[in-house]
Amino acid sequence: MVYENPDGVMIGLEIHVQLNKLNTKMFCGCSTQYHNAGPNTHVCPVCLGLPGSLPVINKRAVEYAIRIGLALNCDIVEQTQFHRKNYYYPDLPKGFQTTQYDFPIASGGKVVIEGEDGEHVVRITRAHMEEDPGRLMHIGSIEKSKGTLIDYNRSGMGLIEIVSEPDMRSPKEARRFLDKLRNIMEYLDVFDSDLEGAMKVDANVSIMGGDRTEVKNISSHKGAERALLYEIMRQKNLLRRGGNVVMETRHFDEARGVTISMRTKEEEHDYRYFPEPDLVPMRVADWAPSIYEALPELPDAKRERFVSQYDMADMHAKALTSDIRVADFYELVAAVIDPRTAAAWVADVLKGELNYRDLNITSFTVDDIVEIIKLVVEGKITEKSGVQVIRTIMDEGGSPQDIVRQNGLLRVEDDIVTQAVSEVISENKDALSDYIAGKGKSLNYLVGQVMKKTNGRADARQAREMMLEAIDRINK
Ligand code: ZN
Ligand code: MN
Repeated sequence: MVYENPDGVMIGLEIHVQLNKLNTKMFCGCSTQYHNAGPNTHVCPVCLGLPGSLPVINKRAVEYAIRIGLALNCDIVEQTQFHRKNYYYPDLPKGFQTTQYDFPIASGGKVVIEGEDGEHVVRITRAHMEEDPGRLMHIGSIEKSKGTLIDYNRSGMGLIEIVSEPDMRSPKEARRFLDKLRNIMEYLDVFDSDLEGAMKVDANVSIMGGDRTEVKNISSHKGAERALLYEIMRQKNLLRRGGNVVMETRHFDEARGVTISMRTKEEEHDYRYFPEPDLVPMRVADWAPSIYEALPELPDAKRERFVSQYDMADMHAKALTSDIRVADFYELVAAVIDPRTAAAWVADVLKGELNYRDLNITSFTVDDIVEIIKLVVEGKITEKSGVQVIRTIMDEGGSPQDIVRQNGLLRVEDDIVTQAVSEVISENKDALSDYIAGKGKSLNYLVGQVMKKTNGRADARQAREMMLEAIDRINK
């Protein structure tokens, strides 16, 4: 099946990834660990842009950038250089952003995503290094704010800006791309996606070959999907009424779910880019081979390995490798439990219950899931009870053993089920003859009575089988 893309949607993304796992900022020695600190406590003359201060490049930031470029299948430039992008805004006290222009550190890559019609390639135009501006905090909404506060703790943090080609054909594909990108970055151990400002997205979108608009500063993947859905609908309505889409920058109001016009789109020459005189060009081509050698296993490779090494369904491998913490968690479980059984429990049950509660895997322990799976595999509790134990741990805490005991979940012995089956048969003659006469529904009723007699601790499938056997014997 080929995806038709009826509205001719073309989406390109620009993603700023904050290198918040570096110890220091991009061009100064200020600590990056400001997230729980008071405003303007992690600053110095360099990141405040005071006159006469001079930047020094963070070597590890360059290594991280190369690592990212290689993971995105990009070519690494021979020699890289920084430029000044000139504009004034209160979060940028220098009056320019130190960034890269015609010699980005990486270019020409690709990322494979699960598209509308199977595997879909999104080309990466470039990935370049730059610094984060400070943080403006508007009191109230950005439109009607009474005042604005500025925190320069973020000023000068290392960023990688990743620019894609307009290869995504729906908001869903855009979201999948963002998820994949975040996943790759976490595998690379270059950033922590849970921190404020870790990833910011600007989305370009056009329909039917028309002009594109850019929606700025979207802070979540779900937000990107919603902003794009809104923007596509807005453009479609405009065209339907005979209007024209104008090239402009829009802001996504997350609370209202709408995009608002901010300004007409600036052009590259408006920024008067020129080479940064305080930072010399760097020859980085020689760094790439050893960084390439040291790249960790990436999501696609891990997914393939899971399928072959643990003999699991591709669907499970995909679910387990879409977050490195889940993948690591799974491998610890698979070391002690049959890997296929472990895959089903972690990928289907555990992940489902965590997602439902908006929790991540760090809120569950390997020991607990191992203990629960063992209880099920050994026949001590039913699968259903296993799920119940997982839910109880998430909602109320406690250990598997205690929860099983307190809730009387230990599975009843076979002879108790047999006893219940014969009792139910003698107490429900009508239902029994209905079933024998061909009324299939009556079986469910009979099995339900067995479950009731055993307080739900019988395995439903087993109870059903035993009931059928008993009826067979009567019927002969
Ligand atoms: Zn500083
Ligand atoms: Mn940028």
